Amino acid sequence: MPARNILVINCGSSSIKFALVNEAQEHFPLSGLAERLGSADAVLHWQRDGGKDSLAIPNADHRIALAHLLPMVQGAADGHLHGIGHRVVHGGESFTRARRLDDQVIATIATIAPLAPLHNPAALQGIEAALKLFPTLPQVAVFDTAFHQSMPEHAYRYALPEALYREHGVRRYGFHGTSHHYVSHRGAQMAGLPYASSSWLVAHLGNGSSTCAIVNGESRDTSMGLTPLEGLVMGTRSGDVDPNLHSHLARNLGWNLEKIDHMLNNDSGLLGLSGMSNDMRTLEQAREQGHPGAALAIEVFCYRLGKSLASMSCALERLDGVIFTGGIGENSPLVRSKTIAHLKLLGLALDDAQNARCVRGVAGPIEAAGHPRVLVVPTNEERQIALETLASLG
Ligand code: AMP
Repeated sequence: MPARNILVINCGSSSIKFALVNEAQEHFPLSGLAERLGSADAVLHWQRDGGKDSLAIPNADHRIALAHLLPMVQGAADGHLHGIGHRVVHGGESFTRARRLDDQVIATIATIAPLAPLHNPAALQGIEAALKLFPTLPQVAVFDTAFHQSMPEHAYRYALPEALYREHGVRRYGFHGTSHHYVSHRGAQMAGLPYASSSWLVAHLGNGSSTCAIVNGESRDTSMGLTPLEGLVMGTRSGDVDPNLHSHLARNLGWNLEKIDHMLNNDSGLLGLSGMSNDMRTLEQAREQGHPGAALAIEVFCYRLGKSLASMSCALERLDGVIFTGGIGENSPLVRSKTIAHLKLLGLALDDAQNARCVRGVAGPIEAAGHPRVLVVPTNEERQIALETLASLG
């Protein structure tokens, strides 16, 4: 059978990220981004055969942007497109794996929308547009939450009145599932271990960050919860704070829910702590030049990450390795070394030269000789979505 082509689509409310994934090729034959959709400045950017191009598509919506994309995709796939994989952020408890799209699956994604009010409606916009444009092509929804549906109840329940869980779905779901799944599988391959009997701690560190404990190919715990705000310090998100912070700010400062929400999601994290940037690269440079806020933001980020990994170790009986991934995890020897320094009780230590070598897509082991394995594994969510799409097409 010739290698198959899958178009992977990730829709935001005014954007579409896309990649054409060929089973047999490491590089994507076509990838790009449509942004500012619905406005006069709507634009489509793409990369093909090493070249970059853009096209203004004023006032285009998701459907018009996809219609512009269609001939390019068919060209890059030599007319052989086998399916479309849609990234959907929230699958609630309804989806434990990727699912072929039909009316019932679409209706269920819509009922889950209150759990992801910004993300699921955007994904549905893309799904509806793609189904109209490609009515005969098999299409699959791949959920960020599905990988974590294997968490045991003691990991996913909050200590809240039961009715909130039973009647309103208030529980921990976790996110970044495609990335945690992909890098733990790759990590097992790199280590020469069977994935189905291996134990990993993963730190996915990007603008959004989360940790995950993976045992025998299943997520057993993860740091994000009902929403992607729980857990680690992130670019602009606070991660864990005292749950009474809302009432404290409301009573003492008169802040309303919208203002508190915005502060926790958009003005906090690395940006809030440093007072200068949400971007780790910028903060590392500022720290070098003596910026105290940047130095503090990095210290808090690494300490909280170390604490989270240590707490995730409760879900493991054995540690086959720690994996770093995401823009920060793949590129910051400083963050990796500061984080691992907090985990001496797990016996972890790094080799400085190996740690410095693994940046910009270089994968490999970075632990000091005789210490537990630590790997840098570049993530590839598009490829994982394509693999899951192909698996559900059979
Ligand atoms: P992502 O969301 O996975 O694209 O990751 C974005 C984050 O990765 C941003 O905070 C970037 O500053 C960070 N990042 C990318 N390259 C580097 C680098 N060379 N050193 C430190 N952080 C980096």
